[in-house]
Amino acid sequence: MSNFIVGLTGGIGSGKTTVANLFAELGVTLVDADIVSREVVAKGSTGLNKIVEHFGSSILLPTGDLDRAALRERIFSNSQEREWLNSLLHPMIREEMLAQLKKATSPYAILVVPLLFENGLDRLVNCTLVVDISPALQTKRTMDRDSVSAEQVQNIIASQASRADKLARADDVIDNQGTISALKSKVALLHNKYLKLADRT
Ligand code: ADP
Repeated sequence: MSNFIVGLTGGIGSGKTTVANLFAELGVTLVDADIVSREVVAKGSTGLNKIVEHFGSSILLPTGDLDRAALRERIFSNSQEREWLNSLLHPMIREEMLAQLKKATSPYAILVVPLLFENGLDRLVNCTLVVDISPALQTKRTMDRDSVSAEQVQNIIASQASRADKLARADDVIDNQGTISALKSKVALLHNKYLKLADRT
């Protein structure tokens, strides 16, 4: 157990999930912000109950799960509703991430957050690791994975912190423009570094 937390981030398609899974293979506990943000609005959760109280049951699917598309529509053009939702969910997501990190069984844990810097969550971690690739490769890999258009990927890239900004704020950078096996070696080196850092804290 450790209190040492590495914040892992990178733009869409950079390889965050791939890198996170390689650390997990080495026994590192992962906490994924995307998963946590779904858990806090799961069926039966306090988060979902509060959303239904506020927006009414039309925000639910027939299954009783949150209708994400309907919710997106309700907040899309209404900044007041968007703020209401953020002030409900952001503290819940943060608390749940911290609770899961506290239960980590490895010497250090990794918090995977696509918008780590954008949402100020770098404040929760001891150091940051940015997965870096060129926008061209980012576009290609995302299109191959999600079957979306180049334009859609570029819009998402534009909505995220810039490559330069992320690199400037990173404690460590992992270049993922090579092969998966090259990536594995880089992860192994960083793993040793983090084990040493965790040992000192
Ligand atoms: P993110 O989680 O940052 O969006 P992913 O880890 O899902 O990115 O990677 C995006 C896509 O690129 C996935 O389909 C993944 O399998 C692939 N990928 C990741 N790293 C490499 C690599 N080094 N070589 C080839 N393909 C890769």
